[in-house]
Amino acid sequence: ALGYNQAVKENRNLYNMLQELRGNIRVFCRIRPLNLESISSMEHIGNDGSVMVCDPSKPQSTRKIFQFNQVFGPTASQDEVYKETQPLIRSVMDGYNVCIFAYGQTGSGKTHTMCGPSGGLPKDFGINYLALNDLFDISTSREDVKYDIRVQMVEIYNEQVRDLLGDDTSSTKYPCTSYMTSSNNGLLNLPDAKICPVQSPSDVINLMQLGEKHRACGSTVMNHRSSRSHSILTVHVNGKDVSGNVSHSSLHLVDLAGSERVDRSEATGDRLKEAQHINKSLSCLGDVINALAQKNSHIPYRNSKLTQLLQSSLGGNAKTLMFAHISPEAESYSETLGTLKFAQRASTVELGTACANKESKEIRELKEQVDILKKALASKE
Ligand code: ADP
Ligand code: MG
Repeated sequence: ALGYNQAVKENRNLYNMLQELRGNIRVFCRIRPLNLESISSMEHIGNDGSVMVCDPSKPQSTRKIFQFNQVFGPTASQDEVYKETQPLIRSVMDGYNVCIFAYGQTGSGKTHTMCGPSGGLPKDFGINYLALNDLFDISTSREDVKYDIRVQMVEIYNEQVRDLLGDDTSSTKYPCTSYMTSSNNGLLNLPDAKICPVQSPSDVINLMQLGEKHRACGSTVMNHRSSRSHSILTVHVNGKDVSGNVSHSSLHLVDLAGSERVDRSEATGDRLKEAQHINKSLSCLGDVINALAQKNSHIPYRNSKLTQLLQSSLGGNAKTLMFAHISPEAESYSETLGTLKFAQRASTVELGTACANKESKEIRELKEQVDILKKALASKE
């Protein structure tokens, strides 16, 4: 007979396999360490991917259980978290679009997971850095394929997209350009922001620091701003193998604005405006997720800048992972419940089987010929 732990593990593996087959949005829940002298609302964190919470103000009330692909408790290290994320990141090199986003209330650990402590000091780096590092490793180890890796970094603040790597970061006029990708006719939404080629981990660190600096410039209180805006690091990967086959894909790494509800009676002026924009864009994200979960024919991507930018990664041809971040303190219980419910809903979304954006040499050459002929025809008319 299987031991209990073994059975639990097999159960989780089966759940993960099923989700993989269906192409579901994967959900990892991460619970940060409890603040000193606080009471916890977490009843149980299981290695089977389940969490149980209890309203500490009503100890008699029923416990609520949620099931995810993975749950990381307060002692999980950055490396442990990255190890589980790695297969997804690596599939970018095979031509898959991947989107990873961190959701949760302010202070729950989103930036810790994506960037690392204090926005990414050399020790304890987060996913952004570890992912790029990994992509470089693969790119140098593959002699049969030549890769070209470039990054963009933008922030969405009050429904305006701001370039964090460009020369003019004061401007907020960065509309999205939609263009067709050649191989799968998929629409890729790209902000008109600067694209920077990167060749080494140190290039990435420099750009991330530049981005953080530009981000801070726009606000008097850095911490406040970073929790009230969404930041998106996009990695574009183009590959070309020795026989001329090409692949191209994008990886979005998103640190969302805090999901907490702002008390309307307390917030006024700028704070109220920010809160309304965040509530709107996060609820648009929820609407898109709901529409996908119900397999509606119309998916309301157009309702917010965030969903517009992430369109190619939310639904259809992409692999998506959501980190649901939890603050374990009792006073955060209602926000925690909100995050868990949002994440649970996301985990039911079936995106269908993702396919790689690959194109054989023959097809690409034929497409090029068609383009040349079209141009020739156009110039005759
Ligand atoms: P958010 O970006 O969601 O507002 P942060 O990532 O800034 O939250 O985290 C809030 C605080 O908690 C920071 O001081 C951070 O270093 C700490 N923290 C978050 N997650 C962890 C963790 N898993 N282990 C240790 N410290 C953490
Ligand atoms: Mg943050």
